[in-house]
Amino acid sequence: MPQIVHTLAKEIITQMREHYRAYMRETPQGAVFQAKTTDAVITAYRSGKVLFQGRSPDREAAKWVQEKANPSVKKTTDEKKHTHSYTPPATLFTTSHLGSDEAGTGDYFGPITVACVFVKQDQIAKLKQTGVRDSKNLTDQAIQDIAKDMLQFDISYSLLVLHNEKYNHLKQKGWSQGKMKAILHHQAIQNVLKQIGSTPYDGILIDQFCEPAVYHKHIASEQEAKLDKMYFLTKAESYSIAVAAASIIARAKFLQEMDRLSRKMGMTLPKGASRKVDETIAAIINKEGRSALNRCAKTHFANTKKAEHYLD
Ligand code: MN
Repeated sequence: MPQIVHTLAKEIITQMREHYRAYMRETPQGAVFQAKTTDAVITAYRSGKVLFQGRSPDREAAKWVQEKANPSVKKTTDEKKHTHSYTPPATLFTTSHLGSDEAGTGDYFGPITVACVFVKQDQIAKLKQTGVRDSKNLTDQAIQDIAKDMLQFDISYSLLVLHNEKYNHLKQKGWSQGKMKAILHHQAIQNVLKQIGSTPYDGILIDQFCEPAVYHKHIASEQEAKLDKMYFLTKAESYSIAVAAASIIARAKFLQEMDRLSRKMGMTLPKGASRKVDETIAAIINKEGRSALNRCAKTHFANTKKAEHYLD
């Protein structure tokens, strides 16, 4: 199991304790606290040492550790072969680069959309002026407006939609959602690279959704070759205008597809995976039968089962 140890300041550990309040576990001996999230188990010690272990410890640690804090990573023998770091140099954000991001992965209804955008150095300022920034801080309407404005510019991009039928089919074939995302990103990136031809770029940045090694494992499992100058960063849309642009284009397409599906199903399909979603599932089943979900939903989500409570 991968694990990382960082030595952190007292104030940071206090902040962490507050942050993980809802995830606390029994405090082991000698520890200040222990918490468990989906990505990692976090144990903070009085010495200031904090241990992150589990599925994606570096992802969890990245929330607290500044880049180049030089973590003492205990690598497995396999990881030792790849001493390469996938964290982009800060200079990447101010030069020509590709950014890739997706939308719809946590939503029960609707497709997954993935966009890759190439932003040239001289386009960065103009895109910022257009309001391109972290789409999580933008309303749905703003996202659609900015996407429209942005596409007026001469930017190279690729936008892919994985519709629900195909998604459910791949899931049945044994693909994880992570694999679907990896393959879609890889495809979108390749489309853009083909478009830009010999135009120079400094790197390709993916808004990190899994470990780089896992990403490359998925790519290899489909006999695809690893690309050069690949970088992975969590919350990349807050640093890279290309990733921010990609997140807006992907999100705008997702919203558009949700409108289209809502019209097709004759009812508003809610975003997310809340109780409102469960009620809508029940309404669809009552109206058209279970098979209708295959056309508009990611049916393996727990919501499909939960909706049984709402059936007539
Ligand atoms: Mn993302």
